[in-house]
Amino acid sequence: MAKKKAAEYCSFCGNPSNKVSFLINGLEAQICDNCAMMAAKIVEDTRRDDGSAMSKTESEFKFDKKPSDIVAYLNDYIIGQDFAKKVIAVAIYNHYKRIGKQNVSEEVEIEKSNILLVGNTGTGKTLLAKTVAKLLSVPFAIADATAFTQSGYVGEDIESVISRLLQNCNYNIESAQKGIVFIDEIDKIARKGENPSITRDVAGEGVQQGLLKLLEGSEILVPPQGGRKHPEQPMVKVDTKNILFICGGAFEGLERIIAQRVNKSSVGFKKTKEKEREIQKENLLKQVNALDIKKFGIIPELLGRLPVVVHLNPLDRKALQKILLEPKNSIIKQYKALLKLDGKKLEFSLDCVEFILDRAMEYELGARGLRSICEAIMTDVMYDSPNSESEKIIVTKDIAERNFNQNSGYQEAG
Ligand code: ADP
Repeated sequence: MAKKKAAEYCSFCGNPSNKVSFLINGLEAQICDNCAMMAAKIVEDTRRDDGSAMSKTESEFKFDKKPSDIVAYLNDYIIGQDFAKKVIAVAIYNHYKRIGKQNVSEEVEIEKSNILLVGNTGTGKTLLAKTVAKLLSVPFAIADATAFTQSGYVGEDIESVISRLLQNCNYNIESAQKGIVFIDEIDKIARKGENPSITRDVAGEGVQQGLLKLLEGSEILVPPQGGRKHPEQPMVKVDTKNILFICGGAFEGLERIIAQRVNKSSVGFKKTKEKEREIQKENLLKQVNALDIKKFGIIPELLGRLPVVVHLNPLDRKALQKILLEPKNSIIKQYKALLKLDGKKLEFSLDCVEFILDRAMEYELGARGLRSICEAIMTDVMYDSPNSESEKIIVTKDIAERNFNQNSGYQEAG
């Protein structure tokens, strides 16, 4: 009798047979379709590349990359930014080395090396963070600091980014606790002056205060599905101690602050030619330090939790050309791959590439502009290509110019 009753329930989640699609019977237990899927995922996650199972400690985290390996990998995807790559590689190396050493009793406690990336929009901040996460196969989540408000106010809770991280690794808490979180537009939550505000600043300083807790490492309760916390919701406890936070921002106007500090204002901001101004800007950004960021409006406590400050260079025309053509998944290679699936060989004439670069420089959106310009040109090409008999498609400057001008909607969105 008891045996018959057990057969009607999943031995893992306890759901009755009428609440699941089906039950698989074992000798003395049953498993429902949902639990079987989850079990399969766990087995998959703990397999080595050769298919054999890993031990528990082995599956927890394996870090075997040297800083030079990290840079070599980044070079395949990211053009230039050599200094940033090196600094990030060392920070990542130290971070995961620190996690690995945690069980060994150490006299010196090694602190987390969260990173602050300073650079114009479209210079590769997000791409750097994303590529590192891909290399390490750790969960990754992106959040926009401008969406956050202090708890209790209209807007997104800061902790929601941890829910996102959990979702991105199928709610594997262990794995999420070693992930990487990228917080973009951190400069937009700067406080307005250098002094603490008297009025409530729920979207600026309030958010910075909230971020402190996450960045330094603490146990937080998050709703697994994201959204605002409410009392009846089930919560998951996540320890952020070993989560690496990478923050990024354009910090518009920061050069002036640096110039004031290094006493170069009169030289750097005279009305010089465009190119010279770019060089001045790049040279000034190279000298950025925590003091400048503090002056910009990031509170010292938060800065203290972002010990690695690194700048990204503005991208010049030559860099944009390389970005368009060279990385493993460059925009042009992606279009070529797409058309290859239709059995077509795609080529871009040299003057077409020049046309794309001219527009990208004109729109001043960094590499971000390249994508929207190419989309404006390529939509018609991709629309027409399945109807064409020819196996080779060459996009010339004339085609590019015509398509670009027709798709003015893209230009505005650009
Ligand atoms: P940011 O976060 O600095 O605003 P992103 O990293 O989002 O900029 O860059 C936008 C897109 O531009 C990326 O997806 C990538 O295609 C391209 N890109 C930007 N910088 C680079 C770079 N240095 N090398 C290669 N591609 C880049």
